[in-house]
Amino acid sequence: MIVADCVHRHKEQRGLETYFLTGTDEHGINIERAAERAGRTPQEQADFVVSYFTKMTSAFSLDSDHGGYDIFMRTTYPFHAEGVTKFWREVVKSKTPKGREAIYKGHYEGWFCAPCAAYKTEDEYTKPEQPDQPPLCLIHEAPLDRVSEESYFFRLSDFGDALLELYEERPDFIRPEARRNEVMSFVRGGLQDLSVSRLKSSVKWGIPVPDDPAHTIYVWFDALTNYITAIGYGNEEREQAVGFEKFWPALHMVGKDILRFHAVYWPAFLMAAKVPLPRGVMAHGMWVDQVGRKMSKTLGNTVELDVLQRHFPIDAIRYFCLREMVFGQDGRFGYESLIDRTNSDLASGLGNLSSRTLTMIDRYCEGRVASGRIPEEKLLLAKRSGIDTDETTIAGFVEHARDDFLLHFDNYAFSRALETAWSIVARVDKMISDAKPWDLAKDENQRETLNAVLYRAAESLRWLCVLLYPVMPESAQGIYTQLGLGAAGKNSSLAAIDPAQLKWGGLEKGTRIGEVKPLFPRIEKGKLMSEIKSESSTGIHATEADAVPGAKAEKTQPLPPMRHATEADAVPGQAEVLSTANAQRAEQLSIEGLIDINDFTKVELRVGEVLTAERIPKADKLLLLSVDLGEDKPRQILAGIALHYEPEKLVGRKIAVVSNLKPRKLRGFESQGMLLAASVGEEGKPVLATFTEEVPNGARLK
Ligand SMILES: [Zn+2]
Repeated sequence: MIVADCVHRHKEQRGLETYFLTGTDEHGINIERAAERAGRTPQEQADFVVSYFTKMTSAFSLDSDHGGYDIFMRTTYPFHAEGVTKFWREVVKSKTPKGREAIYKGHYEGWFCAPCAAYKTEDEYTKPEQPDQPPLCLIHEAPLDRVSEESYFFRLSDFGDALLELYEERPDFIRPEARRNEVMSFVRGGLQDLSVSRLKSSVKWGIPVPDDPAHTIYVWFDALTNYITAIGYGNEEREQAVGFEKFWPALHMVGKDILRFHAVYWPAFLMAAKVPLPRGVMAHGMWVDQVGRKMSKTLGNTVELDVLQRHFPIDAIRYFCLREMVFGQDGRFGYESLIDRTNSDLASGLGNLSSRTLTMIDRYCEGRVASGRIPEEKLLLAKRSGIDTDETTIAGFVEHARDDFLLHFDNYAFSRALETAWSIVARVDKMISDAKPWDLAKDENQRETLNAVLYRAAESLRWLCVLLYPVMPESAQGIYTQLGLGAAGKNSSLAAIDPAQLKWGGLEKGTRIGEVKPLFPRIEKGKLMSEIKSESSTGIHATEADAVPGAKAEKTQPLPPMRHATEADAVPGQAEVLSTANAQRAEQLSIEGLIDINDFTKVELRVGEVLTAERIPKADKLLLLSVDLGEDKPRQILAGIALHYEPEKLVGRKIAVVSNLKPRKLRGFESQGMLLAASVGEEGKPVLATFTEEVPNGARLK
């Protein structure tokens, strides 16, 4: 949602009218069951969950009141049902590319995951340990339902060629490339017809099949349609208010776990209903934890939105999301790295540049932006003080960075775009340290040089505000106001300034700057981490799940913290099953001394290549190694193998490394990992673990 919000704000800046939709699909067996257990009607249950989501989107400034989404779409809105009904009828009327009815009645039998709202094929579930138990969904680790009943089918099997043609003709229909390939090979493997209804006797909570009320429409068929019903498909009033013609086709941004629904089923439905296809489907990756594990309730490594929101500025979270994840790939999340990024890039980087520039303008120029021009007769003097007298050098740099930024942004390469913006921060920082305004200020003859340096810094900041507004709306606007530019009138809001139209020199001389305030206070890492940890173990997690009656009892059990992340988890029955399973495991451990697979996966082992190795003075057992683990920079690792290995002979060798060990100091050197070696004989002679086949650096040992 944050990424979509950034794209929406950026497009608006560029002068494009956008309609930003997010929301919830609210039908189906999953909600029906949760409602039953919570003693609510399904509608009450949906309202309850949505109130939690909208509370969160508001807390994260993503709602309409904060300039975020245009609609929080709910599939229980009556106009949606109207649109779905029309859409279904269009599909029923149509023929497949092979000339057959697109929808027919048949009989379905299979394993169904309620939280996924999808039937599961054999490679999508784990077989049960006992033959009489149902299999578990790989995504939800929840038991599947055996479903066998009359059902309407969508003849998806007839759409394979048409879909492949679409992917071929429009290579950017599915992004990123790797996901496109996955989808294409899935379609090439042959498509099966899709069950698109359930008998009302098994799923009541859904939109009735038009002209056959004994059936309800399959939740995905209903849910996907929300993208067009929200803007007016099938409802005159909505069409007038928003405009289907105006905003369709749209771009979809979805998690990679629901890509198939958006990139295969949805276009096929649309083809059948003769509605234009979306502009494209952009699949984003998932957040994994700091050591690369999938976040899961069983591992207890999920992130609580309310913890995040309580302890971090929203803009820091937004910045982190876009900067840390290569969009389309999985990204690693950890509170520590969020703190590090906030401190280095925001507090020390952008924030420091902004406050030092503005403080100097306040101190040396009486709070007004002075002219950036150095008169002819002062040029030589300026040059002697070490500043580039040619203003177009920095102007050119900033313009070029802006162009790159826009290019990356349009390509969804947000991380690269932000890197580019921070190259401006670094460049201006360097200009300031080189020119030393605090020295220039002592020399009245250098007045114009000082003014020019401060002008360039302030003008660069103005550009950064415009570029960064979509990512950090509040902070960018904050700096902009401090620059004296946020006042009412033309150009008061960054939302309306097109970065492509920026011209160097736009900051007018004489502009009175605003009150200088620090925008990104440094976070005390140790203090905040212990706060977060203590909250996690006392269980202050204000998720809606906690409010579900019946889930309460479970909280008293000593289970891993942060388990109640989703609505589905609030189902008491499931919680009981999980806690029983945990109890059994604990018992096993104490009796047999065995560890669970989850304990093992806590240790991250990776392939490393020794780049350099050297002895450490006065430490005859230790070698200082730099080891390439396929990361940005090599790790420094100390190993007690000097008595048995010549440093020269280790260079180029592939070894196994524990890569998620806390760094330790040994003899004044930080060791960022540990090698694996067999310990042989009485004196424990180390023999390094190694590989006899080709293996890339960074590969994980499992
Ligand atoms: Zn599932």
